[in-house]
Amino acid sequence: MKFGGTSMAGMERIRNVALRVKHEVGLGNEVAVVVSAMAGETDRLVGFCKEASPLYDEAEYDVVVASGEQVTSGLLAMTLKAIGVDARSWLGWQLPIRTVEAHSKARIDDIETQALLQAMAAGQVAVIPGFQGQMADGRVSTLGRGGSDTSAVAIAAAVKAERCDIYTDVDGVYTTDPRIVSRARKLNKVTYEEMLELASVGSKVLQTRSVALAMKEKVRVQVLSSFEQPGNDPEPGTMIVSEEEIEESDMERQLITGIAHDKNEAKIIVTRVPDKPGAVASIFLPLAEASINVDMIIQNDSKDNAETDVTFTVPRADLARSVDILEARKESIGFRRIITDAEVAKISVVGVGMRSHAGVAALMFKTLADRGINIEAISTSEIKVSVLIDEDETELAVRVLHTAYGLDGDQPAG
Ligand code: ASP
Ligand code: MG
Repeated sequence: MKFGGTSMAGMERIRNVALRVKHEVGLGNEVAVVVSAMAGETDRLVGFCKEASPLYDEAEYDVVVASGEQVTSGLLAMTLKAIGVDARSWLGWQLPIRTVEAHSKARIDDIETQALLQAMAAGQVAVIPGFQGQMADGRVSTLGRGGSDTSAVAIAAAVKAERCDIYTDVDGVYTTDPRIVSRARKLNKVTYEEMLELASVGSKVLQTRSVALAMKEKVRVQVLSSFEQPGNDPEPGTMIVSEEEIEESDMERQLITGIAHDKNEAKIIVTRVPDKPGAVASIFLPLAEASINVDMIIQNDSKDNAETDVTFTVPRADLARSVDILEARKESIGFRRIITDAEVAKISVVGVGMRSHAGVAALMFKTLADRGINIEAISTSEIKVSVLIDEDETELAVRVLHTAYGLDGDQPAG
């Protein structure tokens, strides 16, 4: 079981979490609990680090920010004991959760589970602070913001858990953002790959890394609400599972699983680039060297084999830096000018069903065209079609697509 910051914010909520855990133990399960810091706490601690020094030491940053989860794990273990549930906390360095690479964004390499499994088999609930690990030199590390989800999936994989239940402030994964489409439906099941696409295109339910890890380790992850009555069986949330587990016979299942929107990209057009080998590389190599993640790319054939425009998207936060980098190489690349647009949105339709069906992209283009929405760029993968449109048309596009792919539920959500 994993509980996020909202569920751990204050003793009243921690008591509810303890009751929820007690209920699960009562069903005869061996339980390990992974907890986040109280909501807002990690931000507060990061603030102190920045105040201490803008160029703070990252190993010491880890010492500071890992403390948020130390507090909540101790408090939960204490609260469990007080209601008669045997429990103890296991800090990242006590297991240990061995991590590699860089402080402040470490990766889990391996988890020592022997003591943990023994304690759990003896009926003791293990409470583990999320986000924490230990480097080979013994120092405390953390996994990057939102890393508790990844901790939970890694622990679940290491102890070969039946399930990894992630309790959060939404009650599952929806066909689209319910704030935009009131008839969005909660999905019973979604595949790892779909979840990865949905997570990376802006439905921020889980840390993307945790989904990738669950897919690799085949951990069955369930996302469910922490705001229901503790002590009762929780409403089922959304199960994230392998494609095989989504039965052929699933009549409810639509061709498209969900529609995501993302306003974090910006468009760059580099005009009149020489149409010759190496020209495109000379644009994208310097961006790659600056660790700028290019997403959609379009290049037309030139009419006269002389010059062509290259259009692509970068994260909005990297727009200014990207332009600087390219302007500095204007002569060697040989373009005419750079046109940018930050007021764009990427709309994606996602679903494993499109592997075996034609016409998904055509329906998307037709639906948008009927509403007069112009498409500025397109990219596709096996299970996703994305288009770039004017940011102002985001809500309209999501709504009409949700209807066009038959995703509207009978009743408004919530
Ligand atoms: N407390 C950490 C953060 O806010 C880790 C987590 O909650 O997932 O990033
Ligand atoms: Mg989180």
